[in-house]
Amino acid sequence: MSKPYNTKLAEDAYKALLSTLPLTDEGVERTPSRAAKAFGELTKGYHTKIEDVIGQGVFPYKGDGIVHVRGLEICSMCEHHLLPFIGTCAITYIPDKKILGLSKLKRISEVYARRLQVQERLTEQIAEAIDKFIKPKGVLVVVRSVHLCMKMRGVCEADPETSTVAARGEFARNEGLRIQYYNDSQPKPRL
Ligand SMILES: [Zn+2]
Repeated sequence: MSKPYNTKLAEDAYKALLSTLPLTDEGVERTPSRAAKAFGELTKGYHTKIEDVIGQGVFPYKGDGIVHVRGLEICSMCEHHLLPFIGTCAITYIPDKKILGLSKLKRISEVYARRLQVQERLTEQIAEAIDKFIKPKGVLVVVRSVHLCMKMRGVCEADPETSTVAARGEFARNEGLRIQYYNDSQPKPRL
């Protein structure tokens, strides 16, 4: 487990950052303290083990179906600019005798989203965790999001949507199945 978040160090860093600006407003006096707490919250996934999140959430399954959950909210932060990317995640898997509690899908995506990320890796990590813990016949993860580092910097014309896909097992082999569930992944996120 990584060492605990150092709020004081983060607070000092925010103070130094703000000192680069010609600020005169007293309203920012407590900003370093608030921002340090917020940063800790947004990166709490570094201090959470995926094993602890899944816990007792694996159940036996006898069916021959497919599990498809879409619209899981993703709020993460890009590791290049420390700006948020916000969107949704769709997870589809074909169980092999085991299923995950549905709320665990949300929790898994949250643990990885609450770290500094690139969307490509976030998508892979979610697929990998599901693959590792229940060994399904296939898993497909689609993340669609809007990156504020694209929207707020330079020319911001619209909300460019980025979609990333991670496919394992049957979804990697079977293009038709992958396309079918990709197309059914989720609507464009709204900010
Ligand atoms: Zn970025």
